[in-house]
Amino acid sequence: MADSRTEKGEGPGNAVSMPTITPVLVAELLAEGERMPVYVHVIDHPEGRVLVDTGMTQVHPAVDDMDPLLTPLSEQTDFDLAGIDIVVNTHLHFDHCGGNHLFTGTPVYVQRAELDDALSEEDYTIREWVEAPGVQYVPVDGTLELLRGLRLVPTPGHTRGSQVVLVEKGGHSVVIAGDTAVFFDELDDPRTEGQRLIRALAPDEVWLSHQHEPWRPSSEDDA
Ligand SMILES: [Zn+2]
Repeated sequence: MADSRTEKGEGPGNAVSMPTITPVLVAELLAEGERMPVYVHVIDHPEGRVLVDTGMTQVHPAVDDMDPLLTPLSEQTDFDLAGIDIVVNTHLHFDHCGGNHLFTGTPVYVQRAELDDALSEEDYTIREWVEAPGVQYVPVDGTLELLRGLRLVPTPGHTRGSQVVLVEKGGHSVVIAGDTAVFFDELDDPRTEGQRLIRALAPDEVWLSHQHEPWRPSSEDDA
């Protein structure tokens, strides 16, 4: 990761290069008989390093039936926890916030509606992972420009308080979507308000938490 960072330096010669987005596999869950990957994403922006979602770091009786196979951020020797400046939670389901406890002292941006629901609704998530001691949430109401060309955008659907991260530079844009879409066909043929909103942003790529590769608009959609 260090190498790709130096290649995409921040000098004037690279003014149009997008911030680097790196998927990091942190777990695999069993869902309907199939192994589903769980990714978090690191954005190397000139103004800071942003982590989108934190995955899981431990098993829990509530999700034993998903037989979690874990490769937590805290056990990945090439992942620099202290190098993260900002954490974003797309939403607070257990597989997206289970590593929040690793980032005490780092602001964790989440939509206020999402935080309210996670702290009040039964069976919403593993609440003790949301409420881990020392985690400093920054509740957000609506769209927020977090860094230059890097926005948090509410995308209701998967949960009421879901948000995505939109990264824009030089006419290109990439979305990190969490579970606003879980499968590619949900972006090919959007159903929820959040999915339609992602398509309206016309991104070049959309990274999903549970897919190995980013979704891209197919050329036939342009017709
Ligand atoms: Zn998920």
